[in-house]
Amino acid sequence: MYIFDQPITTLKGVGESRQKLLSKLKIKTIGDLLYFFPRYIEDRSVTMPIFSLTDGARATVRATVVSKPSRLKIRNNLTLYTMPVKDSSGTMHLTWYNNKYIENAFTVGREYNFYGKVEIKYGKKQMENPTYEAVDNNLHTGRIVPVYPLTENLPQKTMRLIARECIDKAVSSINDPIPLYVRKKYGLCEINYALSSIHFPETKEDYSIARHRFVFEELLMLQMGMLHIKTAKTAVNLRPVNTSFKDEFIKKISFSLTGAQNRVLDEICSDISSEKVMNRLVQGDVGSGKTVLAFAAMYIAQKNGRQSVLMAPTEVLANQHYKTALEYFDESDIQLLTGSLTAAEKKAAYENIKSGKAKIIIGTHALIENKVEYSDLSLVITDEQHRFGVRQRAMLAEKGDSPHILIMSATPIPRTLSLIIYGELDVSVVDELPPGRQKVDTFAVDESMRQRINAFMRKNLAQGRQIYVICPLIEESEKMDLKAAKSLADHLQNDVLPDYSVRLLHGKMKASEKNQIMNDFASGKINVLVSTTVIEVGMNVPNATVMIIENAERFGLSQLHQIRGRVGRGAEKSYCIMFSEGEGNNTKKRLDVMTKTNDGFEIAKRDLELRGPGDFLGTRQHGMPELNVADIFTDFETMKLARNAAEEILAKDPDLSSEEHIFLKLRINRMFEGVLGGNIIG
Ligand code: ADP
Ligand code: MG
Repeated sequence: MYIFDQPITTLKGVGESRQKLLSKLKIKTIGDLLYFFPRYIEDRSVTMPIFSLTDGARATVRATVVSKPSRLKIRNNLTLYTMPVKDSSGTMHLTWYNNKYIENAFTVGREYNFYGKVEIKYGKKQMENPTYEAVDNNLHTGRIVPVYPLTENLPQKTMRLIARECIDKAVSSINDPIPLYVRKKYGLCEINYALSSIHFPETKEDYSIARHRFVFEELLMLQMGMLHIKTAKTAVNLRPVNTSFKDEFIKKISFSLTGAQNRVLDEICSDISSEKVMNRLVQGDVGSGKTVLAFAAMYIAQKNGRQSVLMAPTEVLANQHYKTALEYFDESDIQLLTGSLTAAEKKAAYENIKSGKAKIIIGTHALIENKVEYSDLSLVITDEQHRFGVRQRAMLAEKGDSPHILIMSATPIPRTLSLIIYGELDVSVVDELPPGRQKVDTFAVDESMRQRINAFMRKNLAQGRQIYVICPLIEESEKMDLKAAKSLADHLQNDVLPDYSVRLLHGKMKASEKNQIMNDFASGKINVLVSTTVIEVGMNVPNATVMIIENAERFGLSQLHQIRGRVGRGAEKSYCIMFSEGEGNNTKKRLDVMTKTNDGFEIAKRDLELRGPGDFLGTRQHGMPELNVADIFTDFETMKLARNAAEEILAKDPDLSSEEHIFLKLRINRMFEGVLGGNIIG
């Protein structure tokens, strides 16, 4: 068996209990362990004489144990061990709390290395809880040491020991997945050197060289996998369309387009009338009016006799788009396709789509099922793109013969990520809201405000307005969350707003029931809609002017912004009230951002700062493997290089079937196994 695939139990010192701990870190094989990189490295290489130590410094000291540790019971659960050590320049005291192993860990008169933070108290030098080891070991002290992201009960020292063992055993026999010609061209170091240098670098430079290589490697593999999923990017558009129908469409709209909408529409038109297939992302804050742009493009396609499709992430949204589409198209030209159609309706829909009778197709994931065949599909639009995985988008695109692709999203995407997901994608930004939109006044409140907010609700309802109340619902605590939402709806209906119609909407309902409720809310039959987050994307009911968010601390900032975007859609002043529990510092900071700005891009940026890139736009959501070393925000330059390399390799050997690409192919397949459930490259 290739050493990479051997179980970690083949390592000295890894028995059943350590195997269990390691498996919590997803480490099962030697290969997993080799690629389990330190979170950072710590330079402990410089050994300092005790005399020269300064307060607060971190240092390695090479010193002789003067006497055995003395024990002092400070209180019931607290025992202090103190041990004096000396070198030729002076003495210092080392202290440990509650560590009974310390008592017998040292031999008096022998030299050890100690590493820790120096404290000077009353002129005396000491180190609390230093790391120690015999002088000639140099695994934890006296060198640059790795610091791993660990789990409970697995100390750094143990992990380091296991990693050392693993490197010693494996390094020199690992096959480099990056072929030599690529390494040469891009100045990347060799795999065995890289592995030993990322774990146990001789110098900081070694570590950077190794890290760079792994960032490159990871991005390279990711790109290659993604390029494989993707359909032709630079396909030639053989039948440019006549876009003179744009003005005809504009005349049909009841409002006039904003400057930003006009600009983006021109960009779209110039794409679809050119020789190249469109591959464009339209980013625009919630409510900036992206939908009408999609319909404009669909209208032009239709007038050119082509079919186009718009895919939305939820049924509610697809239905809403369908209704909007009726304003611009003849009912007989439009086909709605969602999961909740009856079998007979679906059958009719498939026929309509296949025959080409339907030119304007709107729906959900149901659109990408195998059964659905299109006719001259030339424009593919996905709305709220961040809700779809790469594969779903690619599947839709594959339904046509290199169709134009338009992607709409309210969430700004870091450049690196968009390059990975979308490739060479053009980006348009709708950076202007339709006129007359008012800022949604936003307040962060706690329970003490409940009565006042209830009164505020009554006041707004009396003025004929409608209200959303959003309750969080997450999978882990689904049942409880649902119960809370139900009882809140009951309470509002029975005790607070008996004269109005309050209804609950949640994800577990049948689609038909959901649609009914949404329609009733849209038509004003329902006054207050209590909902779990299913309405988060895209809903448009301009008469709803109050948004109440329960447990706002449980939502991400960008999500809160999306939710808030459901109000402020009409001419009336709108309000967003966020209830939150707990005084968490971060909660306060996050909700503060919401009260201060209505700018979605600004909010996304702050979200990123406060949550860190790992959480934000979890790559998993996009149907991508998680990144281990590369950082989608900071490694953009390497990303571009890796992309070049990926294209070069694939141009040379599209199936990676040649000898020099065997290990690369293996690694790529493994990387995507988790998200695709099979080999990505056959
Ligand atoms: P989003 O960009 O979030 O998808 P929508 O396309 O749903 O936004 O548009 C939000 C609302 O704004 C809709 O009711 C739409 O009809 C309206 N709208 C869009 N563009 C304009 C405009 N230029 N002037 C006035 N209203 C507009
Ligand atoms: Mg939208």
